[in-house]
Amino acid sequence: MKKIFLTACILLLLRGVLLSQSTQNVVIVVIDGARYTETFGDPAHQYIPNIWNQLKPLGTIYTSFYNDGITQTNSGHASILTGTWQSILNDGSELPHKPTIFEYHRKERNSPAAENYVVLGKTKLDILSHSDHPDYGASYGATVDTTNFQYDDVYTLENVKDVIATYHPRLMITNLAGTDRAGHDGPWLNYITKLQRADSIVNALWNLIQTDQSYKDKTTLIVTNDHGRHTTDFRSHGDGCDGCRHITMLIIGPDTPIDKIDSTRQTQIDIAPSLAQLLKFHTLLATGTIIPSAFIIPGMEAYRMEQGWNLISIPRQTSTKDKALLFPTAISPAFIYNGSYVEKETLETGVGYWMKFGPEHDLFITGYDLHADTINIEEGWNLVGTLGVPVSLNNISVSTPDITLSDFFGFNGNYYTADTLLPCRGYWVKANRSGQLFLDASTPLNRELNK
Ligand SMILES: [Zn+2]
Ligand SMILES: [Zn+2]
Repeated sequence: MKKIFLTACILLLLRGVLLSQSTQNVVIVVIDGARYTETFGDPAHQYIPNIWNQLKPLGTIYTSFYNDGITQTNSGHASILTGTWQSILNDGSELPHKPTIFEYHRKERNSPAAENYVVLGKTKLDILSHSDHPDYGASYGATVDTTNFQYDDVYTLENVKDVIATYHPRLMITNLAGTDRAGHDGPWLNYITKLQRADSIVNALWNLIQTDQSYKDKTTLIVTNDHGRHTTDFRSHGDGCDGCRHITMLIIGPDTPIDKIDSTRQTQIDIAPSLAQLLKFHTLLATGTIIPSAFIIPGMEAYRMEQGWNLISIPRQTSTKDKALLFPTAISPAFIYNGSYVEKETLETGVGYWMKFGPEHDLFITGYDLHADTINIEEGWNLVGTLGVPVSLNNISVSTPDITLSDFFGFNGNYYTADTLLPCRGYWVKANRSGQLFLDASTPLNRELNK
């Protein structure tokens, strides 16, 4: 009786976890015109110490995030808020032409204007309140609050604090205009000083969110940029160079994986549908797509890839075996060892593959847990895969007692002798004859390997 009750409780709990999302509020902070080379792209991260050291471990960062549209302030912000590429005048005289998230949110969820806020450091951005779309528009617009001292982010933070304390908006965007202004003004020191200030303000804002009782643990913070700056001249921006297009994004919140790096290419217009998913409304006319890694998805795990060659394997039972879909960030083919190296486009579990990757990042793989597997081995050296959980050598057995195995060798830049096989990794092992390896992490076998 007790056992049945307990099982029922666990099932209810599990169902609750799968159905519930915890985010009730979303705050977007745009650091205006910060260039990637001074933010995530700076190996020392010297101008964003708070974001890098305090906030990054709390959420997921995006290192291939782009503005593929117009790299100006108003168009960039309008693209973020509409989930479509908007090309609008940069002087504040043209509204976005597709509905903003505020309009979708208000219309679909019956959300009052005071729950939707635009807090500005630039008056020309008051066009972010609403679009001129005939089915939406001003009657579904956000409340706009512009700071008294434009371009001074300290005052913008004060306004954000007031708005949060007074209205607790469900959906808010704020613009930190100081970095872009200082960039245009010219002295490098001024630009990086304002960037450092924006970095502290973002940190202060997250601390404010987590100390506010109605926001704490229910609020997702999205930190991004409207555009970067020219690769060759930090004083301006507006074209299609990588410096103008490559931007940052960081998401922290109760529904987002912690301490992860997503390096798959995504863009500004993916923000609107993603945050709409968090707040349970729909961005019907958006062309961007939901960013999967922004959510803790049952069955999804993240695996860290190192820069350069990795020896890896499929750690889960997945619906696809297509190398390009499973490892979209690999910059080389997948090679198996079959006496010599052979390229593979369809992958299987239990096999080790060589694949090369760019800068260190996480791969997100969704599927069922892989707790046991049978792996065919040949006489001589084999490149084998492993399971979705760490496998100690005690959990490995062989099909016939006359099979003798060498040590298992892993690769982390150099070869090493492994006493535990790690998820998603591949290993070299030599056998005296062909047969099968049984990997079973669910029951400790306590069986000695023949050596
Ligand atoms: Zn600018
Ligand atoms: Zn440029």
